[in-house]
Amino acid sequence: MAIATGTYEDKTEEQKAIIEMVRQFVDEQILPNAEEYDHEDKFPEPIVEQMKELGLFGVTIPEEYGGMGLDLTTYTMIVEELSRGWISISGVVNTHFIGSYLLMKFGTEEQKDYFLPKMATGEIRAAFSLSEPEVGSDVQGIKTSAVKEGDDWVINGQKMWVTNGLGSSVVFLLVKTDPKADPPYKGMTCFITEKEAWEHENTGEYAGLNIPPAIKKMGYKGVESTELVYDGYKCPSGRILGGEEDGLGEGFRQMMDALEVGRVNVAARGVGIAQRALELGLRYSQERKTFGKPIAEHQAIQFKLADMATKVEAARLVTLKAARMKDAGERSDLEAGMAKLLASETGKEVVEDCFRIHGGYGYSKEYEIERLYRDAPLLLIGEGTSEIQRMVIGKKLIQRHKI
Ligand SMILES: Cc1cc2nc3c(=O)[nH]c(=O)nc-3n(C[C@H](O)[C@H](O)[C@H](O)COP(=O)(O)OP(=O)(O)OC[C@H]3O[C@@H](n4cnc5c(N)ncnc54)[C@H](O)[C@@H]3O)c2cc1C
Repeated sequence: MAIATGTYEDKTEEQKAIIEMVRQFVDEQILPNAEEYDHEDKFPEPIVEQMKELGLFGVTIPEEYGGMGLDLTTYTMIVEELSRGWISISGVVNTHFIGSYLLMKFGTEEQKDYFLPKMATGEIRAAFSLSEPEVGSDVQGIKTSAVKEGDDWVINGQKMWVTNGLGSSVVFLLVKTDPKADPPYKGMTCFITEKEAWEHENTGEYAGLNIPPAIKKMGYKGVESTELVYDGYKCPSGRILGGEEDGLGEGFRQMMDALEVGRVNVAARGVGIAQRALELGLRYSQERKTFGKPIAEHQAIQFKLADMATKVEAARLVTLKAARMKDAGERSDLEAGMAKLLASETGKEVVEDCFRIHGGYGYSKEYEIERLYRDAPLLLIGEGTSEIQRMVIGKKLIQRHKI
């Protein structure tokens, strides 16, 4: 059942055409297959192959490198549509998008020329890695380190929760290069680590890098999240993001910059999953009858639907506002935090309301809402928890309104 999603009036002709194309792809390829991949926790290879053909891995990569050269706003609209289908699909492109953003903004010409064309086609996919077993929110506490030996940097340490940790060919990795730096963030560097360069031709293992079996998760299935264990992994100095001269010690700043656009992206995922829950709630409530009439005619259910639709609309507007401000070159850290907070909480709340509308059937794996119910909580955690967003928003508010 097609229900009007994000209003078309606020889109350019190009955006309308792209969104129409992505929506059709989601309706025909993702929605009919998501349950199967989710239940089997299987990587959706055929869907990803089609996404490569549609150019979805190069949406924001400039045309000179083979991408579409579109802005963050259009990308945000695309992510909403993909997430309406299944947030794991947006998870496959999300870390890739962050990697390409890091390269476009901070990479040397050599790094851009080498990676971006292959990333634009999806020939290689990217992951990014900050989190460690003992550290998520408090990024300055990471322990993974790199020490220079000759022309190489030797990396040791353990990373956690790396989305696309197995299937990606390149990982943007935040490590400590100066353990004595005070404050610690000044001693952090981002390495562009290529796995294949170190692959053993017979065993398929990587020299100095071990990838344990994927972490078993409650939802967000199909796309793998792994640990990465570095033990004497060598990375050439030319693979420091931005080059050794300019990039050494800049990793924290670079990653935080990328997380800002990442937050808008997670917000779009919240809008997408909430939109889908609204659609499912609208449909089920008109089909299911109790006390002689469709439950949609009971005021309590109508009020739920009203709140759900209102929240989805509000979250979408805040998310698009943050994206448009970023595209216009305006400061948007506060807005990105607000969008991430509101849209991810909206995702969880609207999904829960839809689950309640389904009564007992919401608890059955036969119904799509069951998957959404397991997927939605991830958005409260990834790219900064709601508590961390509130800290960011509070700090930025005070900075902007200092008396
Ligand atoms: C499925 C999945 C995929 C992920 N993918 C990636 C990835 O690709 N790359 C990557 O680097 N990371 C990834 N992560 C990690 C994610 O970014 C972290 O889990 C997240 O930042 C929270 O960190 P933590 O889990 O260590 O929680 P903690 O930092 O230990 O926080 C625990 C609780 O304490 C709260 N808290 C922490 N500090 C404060 C404070 N100062 N004030 C108030 N409350 C506080 C938090 O909000 C939370 O409620 C992923 C996580 C998941 C679950």
